[in-house]
Amino acid sequence: MPDLIPAAKPLIGDDERAAVDRVLRSGMIAQGPEVAAFEREFADHFVDGRETVAVNSGTSGLHLGLLACGIGPGDEVIVPSFTFAATGNSVALTGATPVFADIDPVTFTLDVASVEAAITPRTRAIMPVHLYGHPADMVGLGELAERHGIALFEDAAQAHGAKIADRPVGTFGSFTMFSLYPTKNMTSGEGGMVTAGSAEIARALRLLRNQGMERQYENEIVGFNARMTDLHAAIGRVQLTKVDAWTQKRRENAAFLDTHLTGVEIPVVAPGVHHVYHQYTIRVRDDRDGFVRALREEHQVGSGVYYPIPNHRLPSLTHFAPGLDLPQTENAASEVVSLPVHPSLSDDDLGRIVAAVAAVAGAGS
Ligand SMILES: *Cc1c(COP(=O)(O)O)cnc(C)c1O
Repeated sequence: MPDLIPAAKPLIGDDERAAVDRVLRSGMIAQGPEVAAFEREFADHFVDGRETVAVNSGTSGLHLGLLACGIGPGDEVIVPSFTFAATGNSVALTGATPVFADIDPVTFTLDVASVEAAITPRTRAIMPVHLYGHPADMVGLGELAERHGIALFEDAAQAHGAKIADRPVGTFGSFTMFSLYPTKNMTSGEGGMVTAGSAEIARALRLLRNQGMERQYENEIVGFNARMTDLHAAIGRVQLTKVDAWTQKRRENAAFLDTHLTGVEIPVVAPGVHHVYHQYTIRVRDDRDGFVRALREEHQVGSGVYYPIPNHRLPSLTHFAPGLDLPQTENAASEVVSLPVHPSLSDDDLGRIVAAVAAVAGAGS
């Protein structure tokens, strides 16, 4: 039997190991010069130099970003329900209310009309997710936010390097979070990066990250320990030198799948958008779970379902959305399958994926 083609595969090489060893030997391993260098390099690489603050996870990044922008009890923040739970969780953790809006069925990202319908006098912000590496409609959402005098944030956990008409994600929001979890387009082990739309927000992020201190033992506000370590930053700095080539390979893999897959609905890219294919997500209208099982058991092709349960139906979040109906979100949750698109796929792997999908989709029709 051939080896299983995994749905995702973090790429850690000798240079990442050497970088960790270098930091370990230095004797200084907590947040220090590696983190500071990583912040500058990440900012220059992805967000046109916008000030960037490193934290210990993407979820911390969302939480601190919301707090830095003044979100708290009594506020509402509009988010998608079709995303990882961290998006809505981070709003709830501030004491504010996540309000779930529906998605555009083509891009799987927030639908502007659905967001507009969800705006109330308590709405303080919209936080779209650039799901699967495809940017949300930041132009449409930006106009809407401006018209209503509310803020715009970005969950770019899956979208390092994605762009809309040459403008990178991470430069639209008052803050933007990028995750560095191992399955994301680049990793630091665990970690997150928060880009700030103003010097005040950046300063608030730095205070919240470190017990409210700018100078040691002069705590100005109540804060967290959400610091990134120099060990993690050292890994991230090496990954930053490789991520563009990986993204290029993801895009080539996606182009191959686009032209060779048969019997399924392939992903659609909005005009003018640079998609970074964190996931390559198709729709399977009938018996999606059987399709996934057959790919794995009969063809040794791994795949993923992101996400099978809409956030507004999760036991943890459903009390924020009693009786809410989001038809496009429900459809997507029951139909999506993400095929392997990661940069370590070989030509042989790509051929096997195409043949497996043809066999399973053909058998089911
Ligand atoms: C991964 C992810 C997060 C959380 O990031 P962590 O680094 O795992 O805490 C938040 N939002 C989305 C859309 C994600 O995919």
